[in-house]
Amino acid sequence: MQIVYHPDPVLRRRALPIASIDDAVRARAAEMIELMHEARGIGLAAPQVGWSQRLAIICPSGDRGDERVLINPEILEDDGEETAEEGCLSFPKVFGNVARATWIRYAYTDLDGQRLEVEAEDLHARVVQHEIDHLDGIVFTMRMSPADRLGTKKAVRELEKQAKARDGR
Ligand SMILES: [Zn+2]
Repeated sequence: MQIVYHPDPVLRRRALPIASIDDAVRARAAEMIELMHEARGIGLAAPQVGWSQRLAIICPSGDRGDERVLINPEILEDDGEETAEEGCLSFPKVFGNVARATWIRYAYTDLDGQRLEVEAEDLHARVVQHEIDHLDGIVFTMRMSPADRLGTKKAVRELEKQAKARDGR
Protein backbone atom coordinates (compact mmCIF):
# COMPACT_ATOMS: atom_id res chain seq x y z
CA MET A 1 0.00 0.00 0.00
CA GLN A 2 1.26 3.45 -0.85
CA ILE A 3 -0.03 6.99 -1.01
CA VAL A 4 -1.18 8.12 -4.43
CA TYR A 5 -0.45 11.66 -5.49
CA HIS A 6 -2.18 14.26 -7.58
CA PRO A 7 -3.07 13.95 -10.50
CA ASP A 8 -4.07 10.30 -9.99
CA PRO A 9 -7.69 10.05 -11.23
CA VAL A 10 -8.74 7.96 -8.20
CA LEU A 11 -8.56 11.22 -6.20
CA ARG A 12 -11.34 12.73 -8.34
CA ARG A 13 -13.65 9.75 -8.17
CA ARG A 14 -16.61 9.45 -5.80
CA ALA A 15 -15.87 6.49 -3.51
CA LEU A 16 -18.40 3.71 -2.95
CA PRO A 17 -19.96 2.89 0.45
CA ILE A 18 -18.49 -0.03 2.36
CA ALA A 19 -21.13 -2.74 2.48
CA SER A 20 -19.58 -5.06 5.03
CA ILE A 21 -16.77 -4.72 7.53
CA ASP A 22 -14.65 -7.84 7.24
CA ASP A 23 -11.07 -8.79 8.05
CA ALA A 24 -9.85 -7.39 4.74
CA VAL A 25 -11.30 -3.97 5.60
CA ARG A 26 -9.82 -4.13 9.11
CA ALA A 27 -6.39 -5.08 7.74
CA ARG A 28 -6.46 -2.23 5.23
CA ALA A 29 -7.50 0.25 7.91
CA ALA A 30 -4.58 -0.88 10.10
CA GLU A 31 -2.19 -0.46 7.19
CA MET A 32 -3.56 3.01 6.46
CA ILE A 33 -3.03 4.04 10.10
CA GLU A 34 0.65 3.05 9.82
CA LEU A 35 1.07 4.82 6.51
CA MET A 36 -0.58 8.00 7.82
CA HIS A 37 1.79 8.17 10.82
CA GLU A 38 4.84 7.38 8.68
CA ALA A 39 3.90 10.29 6.43
CA ARG A 40 3.23 12.49 9.49
CA GLY A 41 -0.35 13.11 8.47
CA ILE A 42 -3.42 13.60 10.66
CA GLY A 43 -5.86 12.13 8.17
CA LEU A 44 -5.86 9.68 5.29
CA ALA A 45 -8.80 8.71 3.09
CA ALA A 46 -9.02 5.37 1.27
CA PRO A 47 -8.90 6.95 -2.24
CA GLN A 48 -5.47 8.30 -1.23
CA VAL A 49 -4.17 4.74 -1.21
CA GLY A 50 -5.96 3.91 -4.46
CA TRP A 51 -8.93 2.30 -2.73
CA SER A 52 -12.17 3.94 -3.87
CA GLN A 53 -14.31 3.11 -0.83
CA ARG A 54 -15.81 5.31 1.87
CA LEU A 55 -13.33 4.86 4.69
CA ALA A 56 -10.96 7.40 6.25
CA ILE A 57 -8.54 7.53 9.15
CA ILE A 58 -8.37 10.66 11.27
CA CYS A 59 -5.99 11.53 14.08
CA PRO A 60 -6.21 15.28 14.77
CA SER A 61 -3.75 15.09 17.70
CA GLY A 62 -1.18 13.19 15.63
CA ASP A 63 -0.63 10.89 18.63
CA ARG A 64 -0.48 7.15 18.07
CA GLY A 65 -3.49 5.40 19.57
CA ASP A 66 -5.69 8.44 18.98
CA GLU A 67 -6.83 7.36 15.53
CA ARG A 68 -10.46 6.98 14.57
CA VAL A 69 -11.49 4.82 11.61
CA LEU A 70 -14.48 6.41 9.89
CA ILE A 71 -16.54 4.09 7.71
CA ASN A 72 -19.26 5.63 5.53
CA PRO A 73 -19.00 8.95 7.38
CA GLU A 74 -21.43 11.80 6.78
CA ILE A 75 -21.82 15.31 8.09
CA LEU A 76 -25.25 15.81 9.64
CA GLU A 77 -24.99 19.44 10.69
CA ASP A 78 -22.42 22.22 10.58
CA ASP A 79 -21.92 25.72 11.90
CA GLY A 80 -19.49 28.61 11.73
CA GLU A 81 -16.71 29.22 9.25
CA GLU A 82 -12.98 29.67 9.55
CA THR A 83 -10.25 29.89 6.95
CA ALA A 84 -6.97 28.14 7.75
CA GLU A 85 -4.02 26.65 5.95
CA GLU A 86 -4.23 23.00 4.96
CA GLY A 87 -1.94 20.46 3.42
CA CYS A 88 -2.67 17.02 2.00
CA LEU A 89 -0.60 13.82 1.83
CA SER A 90 -1.55 13.48 -1.85
CA PHE A 91 -0.18 16.99 -2.57
CA PRO A 92 3.35 17.10 -1.10
CA LYS A 93 4.64 20.67 -0.61
CA VAL A 94 1.28 22.21 -1.52
CA PHE A 95 -0.36 24.38 1.13
CA GLY A 96 -3.23 26.81 0.94
CA ASN A 97 -6.11 28.37 2.83
CA VAL A 98 -9.43 26.59 2.91
CA ALA A 99 -12.65 27.81 4.54
CA ARG A 100 -14.37 25.11 6.62
CA ALA A 101 -17.15 24.92 9.18
CA THR A 102 -15.78 25.34 12.71
CA TRP A 103 -18.30 22.92 14.23
CA ILE A 104 -19.87 19.77 12.84
CA ARG A 105 -21.96 16.85 13.96
CA TYR A 106 -21.10 13.74 12.00
CA ALA A 107 -21.96 10.07 11.90
CA TYR A 108 -19.82 7.11 10.98
CA THR A 109 -19.60 3.36 11.42
CA ASP A 110 -16.62 2.03 13.38
CA LEU A 111 -14.67 -1.18 12.77
CA ASP A 112 -17.04 -3.08 15.09
CA GLY A 113 -19.99 -2.08 12.91
CA GLN A 114 -21.42 0.42 15.41
CA ARG A 115 -22.97 3.58 14.01
CA LEU A 116 -21.80 6.53 16.09
CA GLU A 117 -22.54 10.25 16.19
CA VAL A 118 -19.90 12.75 17.21
CA GLU A 119 -19.68 16.52 17.63
CA ALA A 120 -16.38 18.05 16.62
CA GLU A 121 -14.86 21.50 16.44
CA ASP A 122 -11.79 23.26 15.13
CA LEU A 123 -9.04 20.93 13.85
CA HIS A 124 -11.06 17.75 14.43
CA ALA A 125 -13.95 19.24 12.41
CA ARG A 126 -11.57 20.46 9.71
CA VAL A 127 -9.90 17.06 9.27
CA VAL A 128 -13.26 15.26 9.00
CA GLN A 129 -14.43 17.74 6.34
CA HIS A 130 -11.16 17.36 4.39
CA GLU A 131 -11.38 13.54 4.48
CA ILE A 132 -15.07 13.34 3.56
CA ASP A 133 -14.26 15.62 0.61
CA HIS A 134 -11.75 12.98 -0.52
CA LEU A 135 -14.51 10.36 -0.44
CA ASP A 136 -16.55 12.63 -2.73
CA GLY A 137 -13.65 13.11 -5.15
CA ILE A 138 -13.00 16.67 -3.97
CA VAL A 139 -9.39 17.71 -3.30
CA PHE A 140 -8.50 20.73 -1.17
CA THR A 141 -7.11 22.83 -4.02
CA MET A 142 -10.67 22.90 -5.42
CA ARG A 143 -11.77 24.64 -2.19
CA MET A 144 -9.09 27.36 -2.31
CA SER A 145 -9.71 30.93 -3.41
CA PRO A 146 -8.51 31.67 -6.97
CA ALA A 147 -5.59 33.64 -5.51
CA ASP A 148 -4.53 30.80 -3.24
CA ARG A 149 -4.89 28.28 -6.01
CA LEU A 150 -2.65 30.44 -8.18
CA GLY A 151 -0.08 30.39 -5.37
CA THR A 152 0.00 26.58 -5.44
CA LYS A 153 0.29 26.34 -9.22
CA LYS A 154 4.04 25.79 -9.36
CA ALA A 155 4.06 22.99 -6.77
CA VAL A 156 1.00 21.35 -8.38
CA ARG A 157 2.63 21.49 -11.83
CA GLU A 158 5.74 19.88 -10.36
CA LEU A 159 3.61 16.95 -9.09
CA GLU A 160 2.07 16.57 -12.54
CA LYS A 161 5.53 16.53 -14.14
CA GLN A 162 6.72 13.87 -11.68
CA ALA A 163 3.69 11.71 -12.47
CA LYS A 164 4.39 11.96 -16.19
CA ALA A 165 8.03 10.98 -15.60
CA ARG A 166 6.88 7.96 -13.54
CA ASP A 167 4.49 6.87 -16.28
CA GLY A 168 7.24 7.27 -18.85
CA ARG A 169 5.06 9.56 -20.92
ZN1 LIG B 1 -6.02 15.22 1.74
